[in-house]
Amino acid sequence: MTNVARRPAPARHAGAEAYPGRRPPSAPPPSAPPRSGSPGSPRVTPGTVRPRKESGQVSAQVVLAVVILGAVVVLALWWHGSPGVRGLGGWLTGAGEILGLMAGYGVVVLVALMARLPPLERGLGTDQLARWHAMGGRYVVSLVCAHALLIIWGYAVQAHTGVVSESAALLTEYPDVLMATVAGFLLLGVGIISMRAARRRVRYETWYYLHLYTYLAIALAFSHQFADGTTFLSNLAARFWWSAMYLTVAVLIAWYRFAVPLRSFARHSFHVIGVKQEGPGVVSVYIGGDRLDELGAEPGQFFRWRFLTSSMWWSSHPYSLSAAPGQDVLRITAKDLGDHSAALAQLRPGTRVFAEGPYGAFRASRPGRGVVLLAGGVGITPLRALFATLPGPVTLIYRASNASDVVFREELDAIAAARGAVVHYVIGSRAEMGGDPLSPRVLRSLAPGLDAQDVYVCGPPGMTSAAVKALRAAGVPKRSIHHESFEL
Ligand SMILES: Cc1cc2nc3c(=O)[nH]c(=O)nc-3n(C[C@H](O)[C@H](O)[C@H](O)COP(=O)(O)OP(=O)(O)OC[C@H]3O[C@@H](n4cnc5c(N)ncnc54)[C@H](O)[C@@H]3O)c2cc1C
Repeated sequence: MTNVARRPAPARHAGAEAYPGRRPPSAPPPSAPPRSGSPGSPRVTPGTVRPRKESGQVSAQVVLAVVILGAVVVLALWWHGSPGVRGLGGWLTGAGEILGLMAGYGVVVLVALMARLPPLERGLGTDQLARWHAMGGRYVVSLVCAHALLIIWGYAVQAHTGVVSESAALLTEYPDVLMATVAGFLLLGVGIISMRAARRRVRYETWYYLHLYTYLAIALAFSHQFADGTTFLSNLAARFWWSAMYLTVAVLIAWYRFAVPLRSFARHSFHVIGVKQEGPGVVSVYIGGDRLDELGAEPGQFFRWRFLTSSMWWSSHPYSLSAAPGQDVLRITAKDLGDHSAALAQLRPGTRVFAEGPYGAFRASRPGRGVVLLAGGVGITPLRALFATLPGPVTLIYRASNASDVVFREELDAIAAARGAVVHYVIGSRAEMGGDPLSPRVLRSLAPGLDAQDVYVCGPPGMTSAAVKALRAAGVPKRSIHHESFEL
């Protein structure tokens, strides 16, 4: 069944973004004046959404250029420190040293990508950073393995011994090599459990906590670089800059992943105001706090939420804002997909919350252009916030398999009517709909002038990639397509 709700487009703006009809039981009635901790005060109107700040964020090209430049400097460092390469053993050892240096540099880049640096988070978006981190992780593990093999082989050739006896000599006679070997195996282990097939079999939290062993591996491997690497043996300046690189990233991690969230927790006093059932297995959680406007959160962004109850405090999960952020209230909406999302329904008012963010590049990009929002399932959450606040003409296409999966219907219809936007509910299975409900032809008919608009897509990974392909086939340029993945 296709259920298409069209709204005519009167030329007026909606009232300010509020939390229409979505007040949890503990919240005051709509007529009550807004007060701290209330989920109801109007905040953002369509057309008043803050335009995307182009300062304070960097592009993918700039990040790649910096990373490549860093790699060139590392090569130069080796060149400068190398006594010269002679014979097969020398070539093997030299190649092993270069790969080892690249691995040492690579882990720093990998950690920096995950340091929650605001310019990276805002410019590239968390999901792109996570993809780069995963891809870079595979390279670094390969570099570490190749480094170890080439060094063993090269030393064995130079010493005219076998690789087994040379391995034993390296482990027992060379300073800190044993620790570095343990580090290498830890990295390999983390790499293996991060492989898609293995990751699907372990719980997210198991994978996450095992992943933290990477920090131990980095610490264990650090000293062997200075103790054994020819690049650093006699070059104090190289040691200084190499240490400064590691130290800088450690400070950034400590600052952005620990100090900033702690300061934010103390400053904003996040707490649960109430929970509202939105549909089968879907709840909204209203989170109150002080001076929330200072967070600079924008519709479409997300936070990592840690609810301080006895069963939830130890894990933080990402959920997008499902309404424009207010001065004293934020709203998230989650589908029950596992332990954490199911437990949200049991949260009690007053529960303290640790919120890390805002994160994400899924924000208003070029104000003034026509915008199409394409939501699948619970992917409606960030799009609901954008729908209420983006300036200019907006069309929302909301794909769901069943009518019961549609959430926020009243809110979406109210926003559409108030701001003169269009909502299409595309409901039903493929079989029921007799074909692809999001084919290029269907998309063009639902959103005339599609190829000249910005399109925001959020939904399950399969739907998102199919939608992006269909949009490209419909003539939408790549740079006009913005998508958010709910998988990191
Ligand atoms: C940027 C972003 C925004 C999101 N926004 C929303 C939202 O608005 N509404 C919503 O319902 N869901 C959202 N999600 C998905 C939500 O985070 C997961 O569904 C939730 O964490 C599942 O946890 P669980 O314990 O309930 O289920 P589990 O069974 O533990 O996990 C189910 C799947 O969710 C993913 N997941 C679990 N924990 C995390 C985590 N801490 N970080 C990243 N992925 C995780 C894993 O891929 C896992 O396979 C978002 C995810 C991301 C990455």
